[in-house]
Amino acid sequence: MLLKSIVDCRCPLESAFREFRSVSISPARLAVLALGPFGILASTYAICLSRHDPQAAAFADQVTAAETRGAKVQSVRQTLLLDACHERSRKLQGQLPADFEIVCRAPFILAGDVPAERLAKLHEEAVLPLSRALWRAFFDRKPDEPIVLVALSDEARYIQVAHDLDGYDVAAYAAYYNRKERRIVLNLSHGTGTLAHELSHALVQSDFPEMPEWFDEGLASLHEDTVYSADGLLLIPQPNWRSRILVDALQADELPDLATLIRTQSFRGEGEGLHYACVRGLCLFLHQKGLLTHFYRKFRTECASDPTGLATLREVVGATDDAALDQEFRRWVFQQASPASS
Ligand SMILES: [Zn+2]
Repeated sequence: MLLKSIVDCRCPLESAFREFRSVSISPARLAVLALGPFGILASTYAICLSRHDPQAAAFADQVTAAETRGAKVQSVRQTLLLDACHERSRKLQGQLPADFEIVCRAPFILAGDVPAERLAKLHEEAVLPLSRALWRAFFDRKPDEPIVLVALSDEARYIQVAHDLDGYDVAAYAAYYNRKERRIVLNLSHGTGTLAHELSHALVQSDFPEMPEWFDEGLASLHEDTVYSADGLLLIPQPNWRSRILVDALQADELPDLATLIRTQSFRGEGEGLHYACVRGLCLFLHQKGLLTHFYRKFRTECASDPTGLATLREVVGATDDAALDQEFRRWVFQQASPASS
């Protein structure tokens, strides 16, 4: 009986061994089975080794230290900016009529004779997307001081507030920027088209305060008429009514020489409309060549030795001298007159 049970017990093992020997295993499968465990061990060893690489560890420490430092600086800047915004808001309450609402959205403070919800919506739907697109494309330094935007519901209120706040006569403008006060005053009844123009001035002041007037006005007026790119990240400038002035001046042989216009200190006054058309046109010309953001940053870097921007302009356009630059620009204006032939 005992012998029988031992025999019964051994039988299954023997048959399994026989089956194993009878199974045919491919060489590839055999290699995986044999070498797989060594591969896993080698990978684990490599990962452990890289963690102990002194160079990699030092770089990781540098990155962590830099990120911690950056976050700390950012936090201090944000706290100071918020304090400045609250202080400025309190000051504004004393300067504006009692029925005006004030909404703080650092670095912006929006105030006006409209409900607070409308000011918040103006920030959310216009000021913020425009600012983000401009920061993305051009400006590396964001404002450390509050930017005030006073929005007025009609012409009469706009004229009155501009006079009371800044002593300005604004009958000819839908909006303006007071650089010293970092304050935009805007007539909402004209829409928000001019907001981008004034915002450009306000944001330039923090990023490129030495920017000469011709480029400041060119860049600002370029952004009067734009559409957002399909992904909403960038502003794409469009030709507008100023383009017509430019083309008419070329056809009437009244287009000023580009270098003379850039060097002149008398941008305003006689011929102001044509001057604006020229500098907007020049910015549109650079944008269409894909050179505007390059020009902006190179000029900002080189402005101490090239205060007008002419040398940088010649370099980015690839013009040998001022006459060649002027010729290139005139050729572009001519193409604007007959876009089909360009
Ligand atoms: Zn302007």
